[in-house]
Amino acid sequence: MSYKEHKDKILGFIEEHEKWRSSTINLIASENITSPSVNRAVVSGFMHKYAEGWPKQRYYQGCKYIDEVELIGIELFCTLFKSDFADLRPISGTNANQAAFFGLTQPGDTIIALHTSHGGHISYMPFGSAGMHALKTEFWPFDFDEFNIDVDKAAQLIREKKPKLVLFGGSLFPFPHPVKELSEVAKEVGAYVMYDAAHVLGLIAGGQFQDPLREGADIITSSTHKTFPGPQGGVILYKNFGEDVAKLQWAIFPGVLSNHHLHHMAGKAVTAAEMLEYGKEYAAQIVKNAKALAEAMAEEGFKVIGEDKGYTKSHQVIVDVSDLHEAAGGWAAPLLEQAGIILNKNLLPWDPLEKVNTPSGLRIGVQEMTRVGMMEDDMKEIAHFFKRVLIDREDPKKVEKDVFEFRRQFQKVYYSFDYGLPMKE
Ligand SMILES: *Cc1c(COP(=O)(O)O)cnc(C)c1O
Repeated sequence: MSYKEHKDKILGFIEEHEKWRSSTINLIASENITSPSVNRAVVSGFMHKYAEGWPKQRYYQGCKYIDEVELIGIELFCTLFKSDFADLRPISGTNANQAAFFGLTQPGDTIIALHTSHGGHISYMPFGSAGMHALKTEFWPFDFDEFNIDVDKAAQLIREKKPKLVLFGGSLFPFPHPVKELSEVAKEVGAYVMYDAAHVLGLIAGGQFQDPLREGADIITSSTHKTFPGPQGGVILYKNFGEDVAKLQWAIFPGVLSNHHLHHMAGKAVTAAEMLEYGKEYAAQIVKNAKALAEAMAEEGFKVIGEDKGYTKSHQVIVDVSDLHEAAGGWAAPLLEQAGIILNKNLLPWDPLEKVNTPSGLRIGVQEMTRVGMMEDDMKEIAHFFKRVLIDREDPKKVEKDVFEFRRQFQKVYYSFDYGLPMKE
């Protein structure tokens, strides 16, 4: 094959991917799609620049327009999240966490975070960013019934371990964390309170879920592409917590990056404007849809986590499929993919780690389907597709036809300046 043929193949696969994705029901809880305006910002000449440092104080020339955009972006993020500072430079959520660890802790310090088996992120772990900075991670005691951090035991742990930083948030995240209750205890021992909003930033933007900075957090780190519907990237939002602010800023640049990705920075800024305009409606509909999907799944006969707490307060619906097949999520997720329903299998907090390839759970996120205009009634249709594949064991290829047919009606990216709000029938 010639090099040109390779090039054509690559571009061809990208086109196939885009066509296919827009035909499927994508329920991966950590993904989303961007609006045409955000796409315009990302595929732009901003990707060809270096702009190390702060706006108007760059180490490189040629940044006059970049500076204007970054200043607007910082202002929009500060307004949206009511934070004193916003830093759009981190290039991913992990990169943001890394910078926060570098800026706020010293090697050898103790932090407390959620264990990966309870839904925590790898960056908190000894083998992840925290461990790479020689932090010692203690883990939040987890209450299986509440599907949340055990507040009393956690308060005890904070007083006993006197950590330098406590970290809330996670990747399996249906219910708000007890930030308010535990921030007070953390302050008693002089610990920073950090909140990893990677999954729920779009909900926080729209006034749903929880408001970490008002509940006692000093700093929010986040990805910008999960419920917050921006391009892949990271952001740090924080209060003016004194002299360590300079250390944090130094940790971001030159600590964990040199140049930030300026086209993604511009895309994040446009997304912040979208969320200031449409975020309330967007976040409220996500939570309504998640609840509607959870209820419909339960009605179809699935075991949905959190029934006594209304199933979910976020974009996530967590389903235990261990009684349907011995390989559980390891069986269900690929089968659903054949039917055009895309999600990931997930360990549930009580699963032993050996079950990583056959975990009990499926993690479902409704943010992307909400963004293309789906409402509560559409969630019932989706629940029924699940039943046809996993309970009725219909041929997934047959279901896929109906999934594609159904999905065809939803081809616009709403809650954006390009398409506005979806119309309710
Ligand atoms: C996704 C995620 C991150 C970071 O993800 P990136 O892929 O690095 O953007 C951090 N924390 C949590 C809880 C996450 O779910």
